Amino acid sequence: MTNGAEGQRKASGKRRLIVQLSALLALGFVLTSVISYVVSRREIHVAIVERELPLTSDNIYSEIQKDLIRPIFISSMMASDTFLRDWALDGEKNLPALTKYLSEVRTRYGTFSSFFISERTHSYYHADGMLRAVSESDPRDAWYFRARAMRDPYEVNIDLDTRTPETMAVFINYRMFDYANQFIGLTGVGLTVDTVRRLLLDYRQRYQRSVYFVDRQGKVMLFGTDPVHGVQSIQEVEGLRDMAAQILGNAATNSASHSYQYRSKGHDYLLNVRYMPEMKWFLFVEKREDAALSGIRRTLVINLVVCGLILAGVLWLTSMTLNRYQLRLEDMATTDRLSGLFNRHAFDVLIQQALAEHRRNERPLCALLIDIDHFKAVNDRHGHLSGDRMIAHVAGLIRSNLRESDIACRWGGEEFLLLLRDCSLAHALVIADKLREQVIEQPLADAAGDIHVTVSAGISELRDEDTPETLVERADRALYAAKRAGRNCVESA
Ligand code: GH3
Ligand code: MG
Ligand code: MG
Repeated sequence: MTNGAEGQRKASGKRRLIVQLSALLALGFVLTSVISYVVSRREIHVAIVERELPLTSDNIYSEIQKDLIRPIFISSMMASDTFLRDWALDGEKNLPALTKYLSEVRTRYGTFSSFFISERTHSYYHADGMLRAVSESDPRDAWYFRARAMRDPYEVNIDLDTRTPETMAVFINYRMFDYANQFIGLTGVGLTVDTVRRLLLDYRQRYQRSVYFVDRQGKVMLFGTDPVHGVQSIQEVEGLRDMAAQILGNAATNSASHSYQYRSKGHDYLLNVRYMPEMKWFLFVEKREDAALSGIRRTLVINLVVCGLILAGVLWLTSMTLNRYQLRLEDMATTDRLSGLFNRHAFDVLIQQALAEHRRNERPLCALLIDIDHFKAVNDRHGHLSGDRMIAHVAGLIRSNLRESDIACRWGGEEFLLLLRDCSLAHALVIADKLREQVIEQPLADAAGDIHVTVSAGISELRDEDTPETLVERADRALYAAKRAGRNCVESA
C-alpha cells in the first residue's frame, strides 16, 4: 500500500466516524425534541378540551344566569301578576296606573325596558306610556305574532329596540293568560346586550377564546365584537357545517357540555358546546388550537437550533481530537523514541523518495553510516541507562549538524544512517569529520562524570544503478574499513 492510499483510507475512515457520530447525535436530539413536542402538544390539547373550555363554559354560564336568567324570572312574575291581568281584563282603562307599574318594574330591577302588549287591542304599552298598536302586516312586529303562537311559555329574543332602533336588546317575551287560561297578551322586560357582550369580549381578550350563543336552528345570536367566523349561522362555517346537526341535536337533549374539534380555513378549533335550557340557546366556547401551540412550537425550534449548535461543537471537537491523535500516531510510527530521529521504517520510505528525486535532478547524494566505537564498554562501565543517554547525546550532535534537506535515522543500536542530499563525496567527508571531532570535544555529562566516546563513519556516494540496499551496503563496508583502520576515523567507499 502506498502512502497516499493510506492517507486516503485514514481520511475516509475519519469522515465515516464523524458522519456516524453526527447521525447518532442528530437522531437523539431530534427524537427527544420531537417527542417532547408531541407530548406537550397532547397535554395542551387535553388541558384545553378537558379543563379550560368546560371551565370557561361553566363560568360564563353562571355569569349569564346572573345577567339573563333573572329577567326571565322578572318576566314570569309579571305574567302572573294579578294587577296586570286585572288591568287588561278591565278594558285597559287606567293608563297611568299601568305605566306606573311598568316603570316601577324597570327601575326596581334595572332593566332597559318593561312592556305589555294586549292581545285584545294589539296596543304596545311600556313604562313611558302607550307606543302604538302592533300590526300583523308590519315586519317589525312579526316577533309578537310569532311569540303569540309559540308553545313555550316564553322566548328570549334579540332584537333592535322599537323605540331606539340602533340599540340591540335582549327581550324576554312571556305569554300571559286570564283566569280561564285564555291568551291575553305578552309581557316582559328588555335589557341591553352590552353587559353580556362585554363579558364575551373579556373572555376573548384575556383567554384567546371565542364565546358566542347559537339558537336551536344554528343561528348565531350573540357574540363579542365581531361575528364569529364572520357568519350568521354555524351551518355556514366550513368544518362545523357537517357537525351542526349533531351538535344542535346532541346538546339539546341534555345540559351537559360536549367537546368537538373541527378545521376551518386552515386552523384547528377546539369547541365546547353547552345547552342553556332557560334561554333555549347553545353556549359555544372555542379556542384556536394552533394559537395555543405557538409557544411550544417556538420551544421546538429553539431546541432544534440549540441541538444543532451542540452538534456542530461536538463534531468540531471530535474532529480536532481525531486530527491530533492521528498526528501523534503518525509521529509515533515514524520516530525513534530514544534518539528523536526517524526510525528505519520511515527511513525506508524516505530513501526511496530521495533516490527517485535524484533520478530526476541528477544532484549528488551521499549515505553516511556512523557507529559509536566500543559502545559495549560504555554499557558495561556506566550501565545501560547511561548507554541510552549516550545514544541520545550523539543523535543530538548529529541533528544539530543536519541541513533542512538531510535525513537522519537510527539504523540500529548505536548506529545512525544519514542521507545527505545535494552533497558531493568530498563535502560528505568534511561533514563526517566535523561530526567525529564534535563527538570527541563534547563528552556526555553523566552523573558520575563525563563519558568520552569516539565514532567511526563510512560514506558512499549514490551511483545511477544503485538501489537503497547497494548504497547502504557500500557505506557499511566503508564503516567496517574505518573500524579496521583503528576507529575514530572516516572512510569512503
Ligand atoms: P565497535 O567499536 O566494534 O562498534 O564495538 P561495539 O562495542 O560498539 O560493538 P557493537 O557495535 O557490536 O555493539 C553494540 C552494542 O550496543 C551491543 C548492545 O548491547 C548495545 N546496544 C544496542 N542497542 C542499545 C540500546 O538501545 N541501548 C544501549 N544502552 N545499548 C545498546
Ligand atoms: Mg554497532
Ligand atoms: Mg559500535
